[in-house]
Formats: sequence, structure tokens, C-alpha cells
Amino acid sequence: MGRIEVIPRLLDTFSRALWGIPANCALCQRPISGHPECHGVCPECRGEMAIEMSRVCLYCGIPVRSSTRCCPECLKRLHSFDCQRSAGLYRGHLRSAIARMKYGGERWLSRPLGRLLAETAARLESADMIVPVPLDPKSASKRGFNQAEDLALEASVHLSIPIARALVRAQRGEHQAALSRSKRWRNIIGSMAPNGEVDVSGKTVLLVDDVMTTGATLNEAARVLKGMGAKTVLAVTVARTVRH
Ligand SMILES: [Zn+2]
Ligand SMILES: [Zn+2]
Repeated sequence: MGRIEVIPRLLDTFSRALWGIPANCALCQRPISGHPECHGVCPECRGEMAIEMSRVCLYCGIPVRSSTRCCPECLKRLHSFDCQRSAGLYRGHLRSAIARMKYGGERWLSRPLGRLLAETAARLESADMIVPVPLDPKSASKRGFNQAEDLALEASVHLSIPIARALVRAQRGEHQAALSRSKRWRNIIGSMAPNGEVDVSGKTVLLVDDVMTTGATLNEAARVLKGMGAKTVLAVTVARTVRH
């Protein structure tokens, strides 16, 4: 057993002792005991997500029907990130699990959800570092933790890629969730800044967040990272909406 395998097992033991993770699917909460290969998410939920994300835009990751594999939005607008992918759509059990993790006191869910994110990222080119999207100050003071950091930590363990906190929040903008889609794109500009202590020049960066809604936040984070000299930015989230 390699060192990479030992760390998740230790985390499992630690997590069960500390949080008492039930042997149920993290998403639909049906029993899955006896299937350690599922890593906390049952085969039915995994299958559903695989179908949802089976055909997506090559660039922004939105599900598409056409065989061109490039969505109309990406034909009009060039994103700052090179590629976006999500484990599943932001609806149903996956949406509930993210809400339970962020607002319901079930922070442990970052482990199975981070695992899903890591598995999604593993299908892309290998990254040099994982950068979590920094939390806006209002959410940080209210929630007390950054779910993107928790997910990045889990992904770091599974992918064996170090975390680099390359971005910081630069100003108090309005909370993105309270804004309309068009306002989100304007509000987010200038909201993140480089952390001067981290060098991303020439690097492939795995940018991590919980949900992609309009893509404005990931796009801004990627814009700043590219400004810092990042070669490639791969934006990966647990879930995404079906609209830009
Ligand atoms: Zn399930
Ligand atoms: Zn697209």
C-alpha cells in the first residue's frame, strides 16, 4: 500500500471517530455499507452524475446536446479558465448535500464531495497546484470556514497535489448569491487579488470551488491567476448549474 493510499484510510478512521459518518450515501442517504469502493457515494448517484455530465462543452463544461462540443456561450465569450468540469449538476441530492455541508453543520461532507471533485479533476491534465477560491468576507465571518478550502484539502490528499492559496479577497463586494446573473459578472471584477507569497508563473493550476453558477467567480479567479503568469487554469467544482 503506497503512502497516498494510507492517508485517506487514516482520514476515514479519524472521521468516523470524530464525526461518526454514517455508512450511507452522502447524497441520497441510502445505505451503501459493504461497498468501500463507492467512497461514500452510492453507484446509483454516481451513475446519475455520469449521465448528466456525459456530453459537455469542451471549454466551460456545460452539458450540451450538439455534437460540436462547444456551447453558444463559448463561441461568444472567451473564458479566462482553459477548461471547466463538475462532478454533477447542481440539483437534487447533490444540491442538498452541498447545502448540508455549507449551512447544515455537516462539514464532514467535504470529504465525499471533495473525493468526487478529485475524481473529476483526475480526468483532466495533471496540475502543479490546487488553488481554492477565496471566500468573500461576509460569508467567511458568517460561516467560519471556506468550503472551497475543505474541498481543496480533500482533493489534495487524493490527487497528491499541494494546495497553494494564491488568491485573496480584495474588497467587500455584494454577496454573489444575492445578485442577478448579469450583475454577478460586474460585481466580481476586482474582488480577488494575488497573494504575493505564491508563485504560479508557468504552472498548471487546479482552481477549486463548490458550485459554478454563472461562472463569473471562477472566471475572475482565473483572470487574476493568468495575470500572475499561470500557464493553464483548470476550474473544477463539485456541481454546476445548467445555465450560464
Ligand atoms: Zn446515493
Ligand atoms: Zn461552453
